[in-house]
Amino acid sequence: MKHQAGKFILALDQGTTSSRAVLFDGAGRAVGMAQREFPCCYPQPGWVEQDPLAIWESQLSAARQVLREQGTRPTDIAAIGIANQRETTVVWERSAGKPIHPAIVWQCRRTADLCDRLKSDGWADRARAKTGLVLDAYFSGPKLQWILDHVDGARARAERGELLFGTVDAWLIWNLTGGRAHATDCSNASRTLLFNIHDRVWDDELLAAMNIPRAMLPEVNPSSGVYGRTDPALFDGAEIPVAGVAGDQQSALFGQGCFEPGQAKNTYGTGCFLLMNTGAQPMESRHGLLTTLAWGVDGRVEYALEGSVFMAGAVVQWLRDELGLIETAAESEAVAGSVPDTQGVYMVPAFAGLGAPHWDMRARGLLAGLTRGARRAHVVRAALESIAYSTRDVLEAMREDAGMALPCLHADGGAAANGFLMQFQADILNLPVRRARQQETTALGAAMLAGLAVGFWPDRHALLALDRTGKEFLPAMPESRRADLYAGWKQAVRRALDR
Ligand code: ADP
Repeated sequence: MKHQAGKFILALDQGTTSSRAVLFDGAGRAVGMAQREFPCCYPQPGWVEQDPLAIWESQLSAARQVLREQGTRPTDIAAIGIANQRETTVVWERSAGKPIHPAIVWQCRRTADLCDRLKSDGWADRARAKTGLVLDAYFSGPKLQWILDHVDGARARAERGELLFGTVDAWLIWNLTGGRAHATDCSNASRTLLFNIHDRVWDDELLAAMNIPRAMLPEVNPSSGVYGRTDPALFDGAEIPVAGVAGDQQSALFGQGCFEPGQAKNTYGTGCFLLMNTGAQPMESRHGLLTTLAWGVDGRVEYALEGSVFMAGAVVQWLRDELGLIETAAESEAVAGSVPDTQGVYMVPAFAGLGAPHWDMRARGLLAGLTRGARRAHVVRAALESIAYSTRDVLEAMREDAGMALPCLHADGGAAANGFLMQFQADILNLPVRRARQQETTALGAAMLAGLAVGFWPDRHALLALDRTGKEFLPAMPESRRADLYAGWKQAVRRALDR
């Protein structure tokens, strides 16, 4: 493809609490960023909603702001890429572009009963085989079913082709292109419980099980490719190609350059999100991990295994806000480093149960191994170490499911700033941990997908040559110590389990 005139790629990172817009130059450097927060509503316990127009308006104004602040003309933008909060569900009118209901956010639990009903109708195994997902309220299909069941006349209108469904990427693409493109990418489609990840088509049986009219579904496109051009009314007449789209976690995997099977990244935020590239084959998990599409690029798709740790950076917040052991999250690094070990103290952060590979929703948090000599620093250190142990648990499950060796772990997210945590992670995994140089890995992934589509970067080699890695942490712990510590962790986890 011919090289586009354009000096920058504009990445839109549409997250759960804010919309960010990041400008990247040809070296893959973030040269400007603007961010707009927007509200979440909690109309009932367990329900989470957002206003789709607020999502769009915050994203558009962040985009305009970064261009203004950097003095960048819209015609200098070679392409736009989108990375988005996943699974959040929007339904809008095809003619007026008006949403018919608030967006149901991924965290919203209102469809738990719907999912239980699908399970008792025998759908769990079939849904898993087709979509790679567990039948859980997180995913979009049941959320869409809920809207069609609860908004007057919605299903009939959807059948007549008057209503459109989309995850947040599709909603942004629709608005960016002035309603000309109704499309999503395959990574986002793979989070709906409606998309067959093997055949890569919307699945008629699942659509029927959730009573969802096919006419309202977006076209599923590769993650890298031109979806359409921006409405000239939005950016001073410029018609910028929208050319890269992926769910936020898949986008971070791409942004970390994890293009080869066995390469994995961990985003250390409130929780941890781990994804491992498994190549052209979807790998079924025997440990309750999700199988998901990583992306479609260059005419082929790649798959990933995904697992998460519910409480990661959140344990640091807990030390700070509930126990008052530290004043800032960053202080945890120096405090943990002030002692050579935890003196046998372990924290199991099962505050909200334990996910993969333990899967015990009734497990509860635990501080174990306390003796009279235990001090604040030991508890703080145990909390940080718990993030690294939980990560190892998920990675071991991935290694077994995929049958692949892991060359290193790529790290990003807010808590990856903690050097103690990164070094302990390398030690406990016995693997190098490579921390991304910039905070903007999620946005960078979307920019890379878009830049690839328009020839801003010629190929994956050019993407790998971008200077993305910051510090590398090499394992330095003797094997016997690693084995002892991890055995102690396993024992602490056994105590925390409710069985
Ligand atoms: P999210 O995207 O989930 O909101 P971020 O990637 O912004 O999360 O990371 C914020 C989380 O990281 C918080 O839970 C915070 O406690 C934790 N965190 C931030 N800085 C540090 C640090 N230096 N050491 C340990 N944890 C940290």
